[in-house]
Amino acid sequence: MLSYEEALDHLLATAVPIAEVELTPLADLRGRYLAEALVSTVTVPPLDNSAMDGYAVRCADVTAAGVSLPVEQRIPAGSVGHALAAGTAARIFTGAPVPKGADAVVMQEFCAHGPQLGNMGSVIVNCLPKPGMNIRRAGEDIAAGTEVLPAGTRLGAAEIGLAASIGAARLPVRRRLRVALLSTGDELAEPGQPLPPGGIFNSNRYFLRAMFESLGCTVTDAGHVPDSLAETRRALRAAAECNDLIVTSGGVSVGEEDHVKPAVEAEGELSLWKIAIKPGKPLAFGHVSKVGAGGTAEPGRANMGTAFFGLPGNPVSCFVTFLLFLRPYLLKRMGARTSLPVARTLVAASDWTKPDDRRSFLRARLAADGRVELYPNQGSGVLTSCAWADGLVDTPAQQTFKAGDPVRYLSFNDLQ
Ligand code: AMP
Ligand code: MG
Repeated sequence: MLSYEEALDHLLATAVPIAEVELTPLADLRGRYLAEALVSTVTVPPLDNSAMDGYAVRCADVTAAGVSLPVEQRIPAGSVGHALAAGTAARIFTGAPVPKGADAVVMQEFCAHGPQLGNMGSVIVNCLPKPGMNIRRAGEDIAAGTEVLPAGTRLGAAEIGLAASIGAARLPVRRRLRVALLSTGDELAEPGQPLPPGGIFNSNRYFLRAMFESLGCTVTDAGHVPDSLAETRRALRAAAECNDLIVTSGGVSVGEEDHVKPAVEAEGELSLWKIAIKPGKPLAFGHVSKVGAGGTAEPGRANMGTAFFGLPGNPVSCFVTFLLFLRPYLLKRMGARTSLPVARTLVAASDWTKPDDRRSFLRARLAADGRVELYPNQGSGVLTSCAWADGLVDTPAQQTFKAGDPVRYLSFNDLQ
């Protein structure tokens, strides 16, 4: 049996990032991965500007609270004033450029209207301003020439905003990964259909699609393949042509009704790994050869065909295997900067009394007190545990723990 790390290392060693890059507009960037570092050509903010509505002054003119200065200009955001003459003030608003000569902005709350000295009146400054007060300096966010986002960054709301703030309208991102999804099992009925005797509803098909899509993949649902070698081979061949990855659920054991293994062996190459983890011991990984042209093989891997993953049929095993193996693999192929889940050490709120000879990933969630509680039924068919949980407790083989003990916790937020 392989350890989790050994299996993951094998997978990641084969994961070549998608080479094609698409220059994509800001509105379509959410969840995409930056193909090159983003460097700012501009300074942000471009000019010294006011952080408040108030009055721009020269500190040297305000030697004591209560000084009155004539207001000689009015600078709303979007307009540019002129140099501030000694002994005068400028009415200024948040975001407006601070006029040359001014070295502080006094909030309007610390000012009062003074006597009518000119056509804009005068202001009484009721505090002692300090140089730099309420001024946002040019370049305090970004200096021109700075790398603002490294290659491989996942573009979320803040990153898209940052790109917009430096005037970038399009960013180079890697092409979305194309994934074909197949479910196997004659017992499977589709939701919305009547459940025949001996049937169960197909759940893997739907949560897998959601997980791939939340990682930014384009999913082709290649349907539900009957438990037949010929049908499975035909479905694999078709899926290999225009996808980067084929993923099946179920049928990867070595039972008479498990046709995925022989079908992939006939159409390409397959390794069936036994991994010392629970749930999710069997994992099949390999490739399906491409017959026709028009494939999407990466340069240098043209004869490697389309990557193949065979996930276990048990829904919980399928869910956990996706998070532990497929997610890091997909992230690497998407060119993500980091792909491994981040573990945190937290305190257990439940006892775990059933040591296993494999490393266990237990469905768990954070309680209000910040401790981690376990779902009571850890069976590999109990999908309720995945919906209830918000993470996994990573427990070494042969180990138990008690409430109060430290545990290694992997949040689904970091994983999904
Ligand atoms: P298998 O790996 O095909 O032997 O399936 C293992 C278990 O998972 C069996 O109980 C199957 O009925 C169940 N199973 C397989 N595929 C699915 C699916 N798509 N949705 C729900 N359960 C499944
Ligand atoms: Mg089956």
